[in-house]
Amino acid sequence: MKEINSQVKDDLKNYFQDRDYGVVAVPKEDAIRALVVKTTNLCEIARLRHKTSPIATAVLGRALTGAILLTSLLKHGTEQRILLKIEGDGPIGLVVAEANAKGEVRGFVQNPNVPTFTKKVNGTKKFDIAKAVGKGTLTVVKDFGFGTPYESTVPLVSGEIAEDIAYYLLKSEQIPSAVSLGVLVGETGKVEAAGGFLAQPLPGVTEEAISRLEENVKKMPPISTLVKNGKRPEDIVEMLFEGFTPNLLALKELSFKCKCSKEVAEGGILVFPEDEIEALIKEGGVSIKCNFCNEEYFFNKEELEKILEERKKNTN
Ligand SMILES: [Zn+2]
Repeated sequence: MKEINSQVKDDLKNYFQDRDYGVVAVPKEDAIRALVVKTTNLCEIARLRHKTSPIATAVLGRALTGAILLTSLLKHGTEQRILLKIEGDGPIGLVVAEANAKGEVRGFVQNPNVPTFTKKVNGTKKFDIAKAVGKGTLTVVKDFGFGTPYESTVPLVSGEIAEDIAYYLLKSEQIPSAVSLGVLVGETGKVEAAGGFLAQPLPGVTEEAISRLEENVKKMPPISTLVKNGKRPEDIVEMLFEGFTPNLLALKELSFKCKCSKEVAEGGILVFPEDEIEALIKEGGVSIKCNFCNEEYFFNKEELEKILEERKKNTN
């Protein structure tokens, strides 16, 4: 374990430059762990893929970043996955994000064209995320790659997503946590800054450390402001752990990545009823769209005829 000093900070800056990444850190003196992530690029890629409106960009960005934070519950660097699903009655509809422990994330919102709702917070206009999401539930599915995935649902307590994830961690995982998520969308709709952190006590933590962490969190500006002002995950770790000596535990490169492919799409058609495939052949082809990344896969008449043959072989 390395102390986060100026040399380590220089190394991280030189290595990651403007890429998205996360830093897992613990203070030398006490039992708290924090994951701090910068997700600006992957949120922008999600926006471009799904052509989201500004508020939908913010909701999707928070969900993607939140799913990445929840990979703290998984084994680092593995294919284990977290699925975060928000089902609210607001105009954005279903919100889904899936992240694996290697730092790959994908996701979508049901209605990417949601018009922008704003509210005034201390005199400044902000997106009213809770209004776009509405009331409903948050579900987290943990897939460890073996056995039945572990699924748990809690009611939405705020609709702002960070508070809802903190509530899930407390209720379903019995982990009291500080969770922060932020996506700053610029005038043109582009993501200017995005990030988040998850800080949680580990067994053996002192009361003093918990109150110090709470004080530090209270003092911090919004995470999107920090990222926008050029603060890097390791800088934010230092702010979270002010009064402690932060040690670097692990690093994670983060990216928007979907595992769909033409083969996966073909598997989807293969389960259609035969008469439905026949109808598609008559139409001359079909385009299958991946929900998670909006990629389209086109199957022409000949390809569909092959799939139908395969389908008939399977049923016989
Ligand atoms: Zn996809």
